[in-house]
This record gives sequence, structure tokens and C-alpha cells, in this order.
Amino acid sequence: MERMIYLDNSATTPLSAAAKEAMLFAMETFGNPSSLHPAGQAARRVVETAREQLLACLGQRPRQKNGMLVFTSCGTEASSLALFGAVYAKERRTANRILTTDSEHPSVGRVMDQLEKRGFEVIRLSTRSGVLSADELEAALDRPILLASFMLVNNETGAVYDVGKHFRRIKAAYPDAVTHCDAVQGFMKLPFTPASLCADLISLSGHKLHAPKGIGALYIAEPLLKAKRIVPFLHGGGQESGMRSGTENVIGIAAFGAAAEDARRRGDALRQSLCDLRDYAEEKLSRLELRINRPAGERAPHILNVTLPSIRSETMLHALSADGIFVSAGSACSSHAKTHSQSLLAFGLSVADADCSLRISFSEQNTRADIDALAEALQQNLARLVRVR
Ligand code: PLP
Repeated sequence: MERMIYLDNSATTPLSAAAKEAMLFAMETFGNPSSLHPAGQAARRVVETAREQLLACLGQRPRQKNGMLVFTSCGTEASSLALFGAVYAKERRTANRILTTDSEHPSVGRVMDQLEKRGFEVIRLSTRSGVLSADELEAALDRPILLASFMLVNNETGAVYDVGKHFRRIKAAYPDAVTHCDAVQGFMKLPFTPASLCADLISLSGHKLHAPKGIGALYIAEPLLKAKRIVPFLHGGGQESGMRSGTENVIGIAAFGAAAEDARRRGDALRQSLCDLRDYAEEKLSRLELRINRPAGERAPHILNVTLPSIRSETMLHALSADGIFVSAGSACSSHAKTHSQSLLAFGLSVADADCSLRISFSEQNTRADIDALAEALQQNLARLVRVR
């Protein structure tokens, strides 16, 4: 292949130099972090350094922490631990109602389906045009809430939901309600802390920010832990303070910490460069015969979704791939399911438009030249494919 322009960074990102360097060091630090000898303790230091780095990214200062971070195998596992863990911790729970949105990633959406089958009342609040319905939330507060799980950034539309405002409203009505946020797409793309989100539980994933696949984390607020209002589902050696047994993925953990620390050091400049790229892409693409699915409220700096004029996304995806440009026809996870994108339908797209939509997602490794190449390839393929349609 002559060139590769990678514009599918919401599916996964290439490894950063910082992550690679941390992985190389961790590969040599081969001890088991639970071993008491120096080889084990060296690996323990790698794990704890990464934990501190990630907690710092969540605005937690050493010795002033309001919660802990549990390493998991991915963002999906973090959300399963959060949701099943919180729901089954409350033996004598009085509430049975769970709130979520109609556009969650399957790692939350499918768990909600399971909980519903097991007798919980699940209410899916609408997110039309990328805005979580405050009216539907208000109406759902007529009974006590057991749990609420809202994502921070939608992985397909880039819509940012006002999680902090909605969680504060829920807690004001029902202080016992547990709040979980899937922040996998928002971490280090938007500034937030557990307090700003009013979240007891926050899911994170390494491979969306230039660490490898197979490492995630769940932030758990201290009061939840103290009151034993979350229980583990992996039992065994008691690693991760008993919340997630299993020998730690030291290499992945080291890379996750280093990649997050790298993003933290660049802070606002990094976010601004992503916003500039997105705005540049939006301006260029708006000149083409396609529609940009722009969320009505706040939007993430790294995701753009567009609908093509009656050209199926897969057709355009393959045409662009042949030109060395990689984008997505919906989320990478939903592409296995071969169903229509629930997020796009929830956004308000028709089934036909959802089938003709592409997601373009950036990282700081992309340049304006990448966007120029995308715009040119889209323009040529639009002309060609409209003709053969
Ligand atoms: N949540 C969101 C919003 C995502 O976009 C993804 C992955 O695409 C996940 C959760 C799952 O993360 P992981 O791939 O680490 O399981």
C-alpha cells in the first residue's frame, strides 16, 4: 500500500512513543507485582506509578484522593464491573429502577439488556440530536433510582452528554443512587474529574489514547468502597484491593499510565489541536455533497459523523481504503453485529441514512494534509459512486 492515512482513532489509536518506551521498560521488569522479593516489588512500582499517573489525570492528588483506580482488561470489563458490581452489592436495596441512555456503547447497552431480563426496570433516556433529554430524566425521577449510567462522549456522533448536570440532579433527588459514566471516548479529550461529573464510577480504556489494546480501568469513589456498595465478580488472589483478582497486565498498565501522562502534560494544547483539525475537516467536508451530523450541544474534539447521498457506508469505506484512507462505517464494535447503528438512530437518523454514514475520527498524529487527502478522495468517489448508483 502506497500510503496510510488513519482516521479511525475512535476505534483504536496507534501506540505513542511514550507508551512504547514504558512497555519496553515493563517488559524487562518481569516480576509478579504480588511477589515480595525485589523483582516483584519492581513490577509493583511500575503498576503503582501508572495508577498515580492515571489518578492525576482524573484530578486526584496523591494523599488527597477521593477514590481508587482498579485496572481491568478493557473498558468493557470496567463497565461490567461497575454495573453488575453496583447492582448486586445492594442486598437489601429498595430501588429497582436503572437509568441509562438510548445510545450507550454495547459494553453498557448489552449489560442493561441483561439487567432488564433479570427483573430490573431499565429506562433508556433519549439522546436525539446528541442531547440527553432533561425532561425524560425529570419524569423518570418519580421513583427511587438504584443506578444511572450515562456515557460522556458518544463514540459514533461525538456528542458530549451533560453528565455532571444530570448526575447532580439524580443525586439531589436520591442521594443513594449510584452514578456510572463510560468516559472511554472522553478521557483526555475533555477535561473532567469525578467531582465535575458527579460520578461514583468511571470507565476508561487505554487503546483510545495511544496505549495498547487490552487494558482498561475503573475509578471507584471512596464512599462507595467503604460502604461496600460495589462487589467484584472476578474472585481469586485478591489483586487490585480485592476488586479484580488476576495477575496484573503490567506492560499494558505501564503504557496506559505513560500515554495518559503524556496527554496530561500537553493538556489544553492537545485538545486545541484536535479541535482545530475537526473544524478544518468540517469546513472542507461541508463543501462536498454530504451532510455533517453535527450534535446540537457540546461535541468532542476528535469525532465527525457524515451521511453520504444514498451511498452505503461500506461501499465508500472500501473505496477510501483502496486510496489508503481508513475511516469507519459506525463503531468498530457494532460492525460485528451487522445491525443498524443504535447511536445514529437515537440521534435521529433514518435507517437508510444510518446505513450511509461514515465516522471520521482524529488523533494528534493527524495533519491538515490528511484531511485534504480525505476531502479529495471523498469528492472523487462521491462523483464516481453517484454515477454508478
Ligand atoms: N465505551 C465506548 C464509548 C467505546 O467507544 C468503547 C470502544 O470502542 C468501549 C466502551 C469499549 O472499550 P474496550 O474496547 O476497551 O473494551
